[in-house]
Amino acid sequence: MEVPVALHPKGNGLSLRSLQVQRLGPGPTDLAPRSQDASLAGLAGLAAASFARAKAAKAKHRRRSLAEDVATAIEEVTNTAEDALLHLSRLPAWLPGEKTVPEDAGGTRKRRVVVLGTGWAAHAIAKIVDISKVEVCVVSPRNYFIFTPMLAAASVGTVEYRSILEHIRSANPTIGYLQGTCKSVDFEKKELVISPYPPGVESDFNLPYDVLVVAVGLRPSSLGVPGVDANCLFLKNIEDARRIRKQVTQNFEAADLPVKTDEERRRLLTFLVVGGGPTGCEFCGELSDFVKNDLRRFYPRLAPLVRIILLHRGKQVLPSFSGNLQTAARETLENQGIEVMTSASVSQVDAEQVHIQKEDGKMALPCGLTVWAAGQIGQDLVREMHQAIPEQQELAQSEAKGSDRQLFVDKWLRACGTDGSVLALGDCARMEHEEPLPETAQVAAQQGAFVARLLNRQYDLTQPVPVLESSEKFDLAHITKRPEASPFRFLDLGRLAYLGQSQAVAELGLGSTPVSETKGLAAFVLWRSVYIVKQVSFRNRVLVLFDWIKSRLFGRDLTRF
Ligand SMILES: Cc1cc2nc3c(=O)[nH]c(=O)nc-3n(C[C@H](O)[C@H](O)[C@H](O)COP(=O)(O)OP(=O)(O)OC[C@H]3O[C@@H](n4cnc5c(N)ncnc54)[C@H](O)[C@@H]3O)c2cc1C
Repeated sequence: MEVPVALHPKGNGLSLRSLQVQRLGPGPTDLAPRSQDASLAGLAGLAAASFARAKAAKAKHRRRSLAEDVATAIEEVTNTAEDALLHLSRLPAWLPGEKTVPEDAGGTRKRRVVVLGTGWAAHAIAKIVDISKVEVCVVSPRNYFIFTPMLAAASVGTVEYRSILEHIRSANPTIGYLQGTCKSVDFEKKELVISPYPPGVESDFNLPYDVLVVAVGLRPSSLGVPGVDANCLFLKNIEDARRIRKQVTQNFEAADLPVKTDEERRRLLTFLVVGGGPTGCEFCGELSDFVKNDLRRFYPRLAPLVRIILLHRGKQVLPSFSGNLQTAARETLENQGIEVMTSASVSQVDAEQVHIQKEDGKMALPCGLTVWAAGQIGQDLVREMHQAIPEQQELAQSEAKGSDRQLFVDKWLRACGTDGSVLALGDCARMEHEEPLPETAQVAAQQGAFVARLLNRQYDLTQPVPVLESSEKFDLAHITKRPEASPFRFLDLGRLAYLGQSQAVAELGLGSTPVSETKGLAAFVLWRSVYIVKQVSFRNRVLVLFDWIKSRLFGRDLTRF
């Protein structure tokens, strides 16, 4: 009889299958049937004990992680209360003519923090950072923040572009902002080379820093598929959304011309979306709403020719959701007439057709518009930083198959291989020795808030574990806060995806503990409520609400510009 895997000291994971194999396998011939039975019974007993141990260990782990998640949630609540007080103290800065930058009470030079980016991570820092403790300058080619979860809605006019943007200075009038792109970093001199935006108009300049926060995100990638850059539209920023909206209306107008053949009309009205993640699914849902609720009214002759196809490489769309919701999402999309093509990939994109590789062979699909929501790569700056920091290259080799799309960071989000003065967060960062966190706004915003609090509490980031800087002054932080900074811990609150026709899927949780799964209209109501609450300002909340009402009452705007 084979030695069962479960008898190994670490082998408390004996599976039923291995137990059956042992029972059926040939036993030693000198064993009488009774003793064979006894040994099998003993084995089964061992296996049962092993199962029980594994179950108890799992339950203990679940209890511990739930306890940790609850503690993190409570800490989040107290932190948010602290942030609210900070916002109140910042109110005078909103008054015209008021001095916007508070005086440095101690007379000592404040740490100069340069934040690269105006995305989710950088915006969270800008909102929460206390300018009386540090001097903050945000650098980004984009002087605004985008509420990306509603970009798909903006790309078909359910909401207006400006309703989901916030000027970075409005996020916090007390911070500095420079419109430019960081080209390179001199870690020795602690200096950046900034190229003002738009490029080629003003000359580059140097910007010194004490603490550098890299939050430059990722950018869309063609994944090496020929023709994608030239013939597809991406959905990453406002210009992309504008281009998509223009192209959809343009295709309808072109298809309506009397000179077009039916075959040409069908091609123009075939919309292919590549990538079955939340972005691809949500865009399909929004596009389907646009076609069904608005375009069908004005182009009744063309409506039957419209095809929306969602192509996904994996077996199920929405891979980050539970199996039940994946199936529900697929059914919801298909019920609206969206064709869902799974286990398929694109091998080439031409101007008027897309070459698709499916399990059962190849096909060429004539297309009027292909939206590519299938992959992201790192920013050039991050790649350069990898090259300049040997430890980053080593970690990339050992943990990311050589990929340099993200900077490796420690538990306090300090870039590995630096002296603690460089932090990286959001999509462009990955924690060393840990499973990568999802590349989502939720992670980026939590990390931004975490970094802002590290800076506000003036932790010394050069120490192995950041500690409160010694201060002779009375400082509340020394009494209320931990002398050693707690590491970053992501609190996963779940995920939502809109699928069109007032249907959505929602998976709520607290850390690793699932709380509820909802689909259909209830999930849609939840989706809208969460997105209204999550808007970054009262102004945006009002604008989005009015846009929803406006598009429901009067339809979406079909003008092409
Ligand atoms: C269409 C769409 C829908 C999404 N929906 C969801 C959702 O529903 N839920 C969710 O959790 N997540 C969602 N995401 C993902 C989420 O938007 C990202 O995870 C998030 O934006 C990452 O934030 P970030 O701050 O790391 O980077 P980004 O938000 O990408 O910001 C990067 C910033 O860096 C700037 N920058 C780039 N290079 C430089 C440089 N060299 N110097 C200075 N600045 C630079 C950019 O201009 C930008 O301001 C969605 C994303 C998209 C595109």
